[in-house]
Amino acid sequence: MTTDMEFAYTPRLAELRQQAQALAAVIAKYEDECEQGNGLGPDAHQAIREAVLAAGLQAINVPVRWGGAGLSVLEQVVVQDSLGSLTNALWDTVWRPANPLLACTPSQRERYLIPAVRGERRDAVAITEETAGSDPSAVRTTAVKDGDGYRITGNKWFVTVGDVADFLIVLAVAGPGDAPTLFLVDRDAPGVSIVRTPRYTHTFVYEHPEFAFDHVRVGPDAVLGGVGQGYELTRGWFTEERLMIAARTIGAADLLALLHRFPNVVLWLNGHTHTNAIRPRRDPADPARGFWEVTTCAVVDWPCQTRVVEILDHGEYLSIVTTMVDHDTPTGAASLETTDDLAALHRELAANIPWGTATLAGTPRDRNVELRVIPPFPLGRLSGADS
Ligand SMILES: Cc1cc2nc3c(=O)[nH]c(=O)nc-3n(C[C@H](O)[C@H](O)[C@H](O)COP(=O)(O)OP(=O)(O)OC[C@H]3O[C@@H](n4cnc5c(N)ncnc54)[C@H](O)[C@@H]3O)c2cc1C
Repeated sequence: MTTDMEFAYTPRLAELRQQAQALAAVIAKYEDECEQGNGLGPDAHQAIREAVLAAGLQAINVPVRWGGAGLSVLEQVVVQDSLGSLTNALWDTVWRPANPLLACTPSQRERYLIPAVRGERRDAVAITEETAGSDPSAVRTTAVKDGDGYRITGNKWFVTVGDVADFLIVLAVAGPGDAPTLFLVDRDAPGVSIVRTPRYTHTFVYEHPEFAFDHVRVGPDAVLGGVGQGYELTRGWFTEERLMIAARTIGAADLLALLHRFPNVVLWLNGHTHTNAIRPRRDPADPARGFWEVTTCAVVDWPCQTRVVEILDHGEYLSIVTTMVDHDTPTGAASLETTDDLAALHRELAANIPWGTATLAGTPRDRNVELRVIPPFPLGRLSGADS
């Protein structure tokens, strides 16, 4: 028996995708500011917060009864896919409290989960340590019994959102039995400090600082989900986070949508497609705008297949002149006995035969042509270019 799998979006999923894309379009307006400032100011954060709440996409992983959007895992994936198209990790401004918080007691819920769902508080998760990454069972941070509470001591690395979070979910081994346990620790508790904020090769709206916990005193009500439940809850968090990362990478792969967001893109030189082609890429939202996509046969593998691209400033318009650089060995060599024969074969394999039988080579319009675009910004010489 065979069963067909149904991959089409249901009306509900299509609606969610539309909502998430609309929200992403609002947040995308902050990409430049974030890129230039390595983060956003309070006004931008406030505007995004309002947009998230208006879209109803706050805390999509938290049940509706606690104020979240209460989406299923599949629905969350659809939302994250759309948000993944945002650069600078701006998807992280659409807050999703860490799922261990679903294990809050009623009073913890009032103090942490519900304000986090509303976007009034922000959590960060502190599991990883210098010698405990893939294997959290190597965690050395301790929570030593102190009266009815604990004193937490240790260092945590890669605490994403740690720069703005006002509480942390910390994995430590607790009590005499070293039971892996999560603790809710307020950022301003005495003994909590940021040791350093390393720079990363990505630009991210938040930071990933390293934290030190120096005998931080917490009460018994700081235990999240029960003593000894730390690994189980951590596994649940990593599982959800990794799944959502995967979903966002699908959205991030929508390069065309990304390029349309930047009005200064006039040309997309899209190499290594094994096809010579030139096509206009009109912005679906504004067909008067757009850019040219120029693809080439594999330049690196086949250096005989080179395309020169020049951009000329004519004031009112820009000319993008593309020229193929060919060698002109006659193709169709009968044998492979001479160097000319080998060159001919090379040319054939590289689809480097103008308007021949190989469709990959493209027509004259795909090879040597002048493309015009309206300059998207005032042009000027680079200072010192004349000297
Ligand atoms: C951008 C970013 C954000 C992060 N945010 C957070 C956060 O908010 N909170 C938090 O607690 N942590 C966070 N982390 C840490 C992240 O969870 C760890 O980086 C991850 O668990 C891997 O640990 P590690 O970097 O120490 O690598 P390691 O564990 O040292 O692994 C290094 C390499 O060895 C491989 N490896 C490890 N063990 C094995 C094995 N047994 N068999 C085969 N191969 C193995 C791994 O796959 C990897 O390729 C973040 C990391 C990054 C990069």
